[in-house]
Formats: sequence, structure tokens, C-alpha cells
Amino acid sequence: MPAPTIQELTSPSTWALIEDKFSPFAKETLEKLIHFVHNECVPAEKIYRAQIPTDPAKRWTTVIPIMVELKEKAKKLGLWNLFLSKAHYPDVGVPLTNLEYAVMAEIMGRTGHLASEATNCAAPDTGNMEVFARYGTPEQKKKWLVPLMAGEIRSAFSMTEKGVASSDATNIRTSIRKEGDEIVINGHKWWISGAGDCRTRVHLVMGRSDPSAPKYLQQSIVIVPSDAPGVKVIRPMKVFGFDDAPEGHCEVIYDNVRVPASNIIAGWGKGFEVIQGRLGPGRIHHCMRSIGLAQRALDMMLERVTDPNRVTFGKQLYEHGTIVADIATSRAEIESSRLLVLSAAHQIDRFKAKGALKEIGIAKFVVPLMAGRVFDRAIQSFGAEGISQDTPLAAWWAGVRTLRFADGPDEVHIQQIGQRELKRVPRLKELTAETKEKEEALWKRTGTVKSHL
Ligand SMILES: Cc1cc2nc3c(=O)[nH]c(=O)nc-3n(C[C@H](O)[C@H](O)[C@H](O)COP(=O)(O)OP(=O)(O)OC[C@H]3O[C@@H](n4cnc5c(N)ncnc54)[C@H](O)[C@@H]3O)c2cc1C
Repeated sequence: MPAPTIQELTSPSTWALIEDKFSPFAKETLEKLIHFVHNECVPAEKIYRAQIPTDPAKRWTTVIPIMVELKEKAKKLGLWNLFLSKAHYPDVGVPLTNLEYAVMAEIMGRTGHLASEATNCAAPDTGNMEVFARYGTPEQKKKWLVPLMAGEIRSAFSMTEKGVASSDATNIRTSIRKEGDEIVINGHKWWISGAGDCRTRVHLVMGRSDPSAPKYLQQSIVIVPSDAPGVKVIRPMKVFGFDDAPEGHCEVIYDNVRVPASNIIAGWGKGFEVIQGRLGPGRIHHCMRSIGLAQRALDMMLERVTDPNRVTFGKQLYEHGTIVADIATSRAEIESSRLLVLSAAHQIDRFKAKGALKEIGIAKFVVPLMAGRVFDRAIQSFGAEGISQDTPLAAWWAGVRTLRFADGPDEVHIQQIGQRELKRVPRLKELTAETKEKEEALWKRTGTVKSHL
């Protein structure tokens, strides 16, 4: 049977809207990607989970064989580093726009993180590769960007701290100081994705390097090899009970870690500048993938509620009105979120991430909430099985719930969007005053008596 078409996987109307914005290369890549995800990744999902050892001694030290195989296949097919747009990174990027990548990320997202990792498009490596590509010195690129882009190593971005409200990064307390030719790092981080992965060779650590500097120039980012003496991975944190092995989101202590002074990224005091650059397009990569996963959950729900064995109170499940309404609502929410994300991606292509802050911010809090609701409805339609280990729905729900914190909590984005909206008030008032003047003139000219209204 042929693989599904892009229209089937997304929607015919959305594809009609964007098709002419796709280059021949992007169309060819998209087709290859659909085949790869459908024929290689989806059938490998259960095997991937089964190959993660349950033995605690091996759980964090095993490279999952099916992932190695998938990566080799993806690389051979040219489905590799698709997130790195040539428009932003001319020397290392792939000739795809953010809009083109958004559709591809949705297709990858249908398998959770599996296809993203297989194509070397998985967080946190994507953001870290962007940091090295944008701010790295030639030596830093050679040592870290080249193996990351080849998929030979993985990486972590280390900012959030235990006991510190880290959604405001000016609170970060980890100390970064220069001592002779070295940088000394001391701090206590947690939720560091990828820090538990035996393939991770490098952490980008954000800390405070000059408490006397202006507020947004106090922080710096340092390259820390994961095997540097003093890097202590304490434990993987659990997300609603899931430890997300083999990557993990770990508690990490940096205890008098020493690295060469040349390991600073972009210069002293540039921490804020770098994190803002890092989370430009990357902020919506999660959104793109979440839409694919939400679509997949809806597909699963459709199959479940039409299973002839599922009859309650004399009707098949899909014959109950509330279930049909749940299906329709999920469909409507997925469609509208997709358009939102595509418009954000298109805006990034036109004006870079800085010119798309509004669209990125809205997508950042709207899409994970939407996907959470879709998973919740799908779970409900599966009955108790939906929250069990026998379907992936519970893990997907837990994963998407974390996106309401990761890369900054919803409220921070909501606040920024609200403030941005309020800036429109003076112009709105001008327009209203102008309308009022025209209205008054109309009253006068027509001689209509106001009291009649
Ligand atoms: C699965 C997962 C993976 C993660 N991966 C990484 C990683 O790789 N690297 C890393 O450094 N961090 C990572 N994080 C951490 C994540 O980025 C932080 O949890 C997030 O930035 C929030 O910081 P905090 O937990 O310290 O919450 P706090 O800063 O303590 O905030 C608590 C709550 O306060 C509220 N709040 C905050 N600001 C406002 C505001 N302006 N208005 C209203 N309410 C507000 C929000 O509800 C927020 O959830 C990860 C988290 C999870 C769950």
C-alpha cells in the first residue's frame, strides 16, 4: 500500500495554501520523509521502547540499537539536520525554509521524538548546534559542532537551577569565574535534558560571571565537556513517573569544574544574547512536532471509537454525540493550531525570529495546551487503557504537559503577548475618535434624531 499523502497527514486545504511556497528540493525531501516515518519509524516505535533496558545498571549506558539503524538510514536518504536553515546558517545549513521545515517537523512529530532523533533534528541538540553555528569560534565548531552535526555525540543545555525561579534567567546563581587561563564553574542545576545520555559529550552551562554588571550582562555561557572532573550527574528527574531514558532530564552539580578560558561562548556577559538567539525558531519546533502527535492521537481515537467490539448502551462509541463532538473539536483545534504555527514559521522566514516574536509567543502557549486537550480526549475514548502503558497516549500527554514549562512557562509568553496588545491602544483610540467624528458628521447630514436609537 502506498504511504499516506501530505494531504492525508495534514489537510488538503492547508497544503493548497502552502504548496507553492515549497521548492522542488523541499517537496522531494518531504516525500522521502513521509516514507521514512511511515515505513521505518512508526514500525520501530515499540521495538525502540523494548530496547531501553529496565536494568538500572544498563538503562543509562546503552545506545539503543534500532536508533543507530534508523540514523544510518536517515543519513543515507539525506534526511539529516533539516532544522538548520541555510537562510540563517549559509555555511552549514540545509536549503529549507522554516515554513518547509515546519511541515516536516509535524511529520516527524507523529512518532514523538523518534523520527526527530533519527534525522538529527532532536532537542536539545538542535538549539545547541544553532549556538555553535552562530556564536562558535572555528575551534569550537570543529570540536563540537562537527560531531553534533554528524550525529556522533549528543549535548545538553544547562540553565535551570534547583531552588531558584529559573523562568527569570536573571535569577541564575551558578558561578562562572576566570582564574588565570581557566574558567571555574560551581552550581546546582536540574531538569537538564540529555545529561543522562551516555552519548552526551558536552554541556552548555549558563551562569553568573559578573554580578556587578548591568542586569542582562551578568551572565555567560561556557562549554563544559560532560566528562570534566567535577561534573556530577545526580539523578534523572521523573515527569509524572516517566524518566525519559535514555536521555533523561537530570539534576547536575558542577563542583569546581575547570575548563580552558577559550570555552566561553560569544564572549563574557553574552549569556542573555545567546539564549535569546538559541530559542528563536527552536521555540516553535516543539509546537510543530506536537501538532503531528496530536494528529496521530486523533487518528488513534478514530480507530478506537469505530472498533465494532466497543458497544455501550446499544450504540457503538462513535454513535454517541459527545464522542463525535470530541472528534470534531480535536480536528478543529489541530487545524487552527497548524495554521498558527505555519504563519509563525513564515514570519520567521520573512523577518527572522526577532520579527516574529508575537507569532512565536502565541504558538508557544497555544499549541501545547491544544495538544494536551486532544490527548486528553483520545485517552478518554480509550477508557482505562488510555492511561496505561499499553498505549503511548499517557506518555505523550505527560510529555506535552512539560512544554508548558520548557523554554519558559506559558505565563511569561502570555504576559508578553498581552503587553504587546496593549501597545495598540493609542492607535485604536485614534481610529475610534476618527470614526466618532465621521459618525457625528453623518448624524448632521442625514438629520436623524438620536433619541430614536
Ligand atoms: C521535561 C523538562 C525538560 C527540561 N529541560 C531543560 C533543559 O534541558 N535545560 C534547562 O536549563 N531547563 C530545562 N527545563 C526546565 C524549564 O526550562 C523550567 O522548568 C522553566 O523555565 C521554569 O522554571 P522553574 O521550573 O524554575 O519555575 P519557576 O521559575 O519557579 O516558575 C514557577 C511558575 O511560576 C509561574 N510564573 C513564572 N513567571 C511568571 C510570570 N511572569 N507571570 C505569571 N506567572 C509566572 C509559572 O506558572 C511557572 O511555572 C526542563 C523542564 C522540563 C519539565
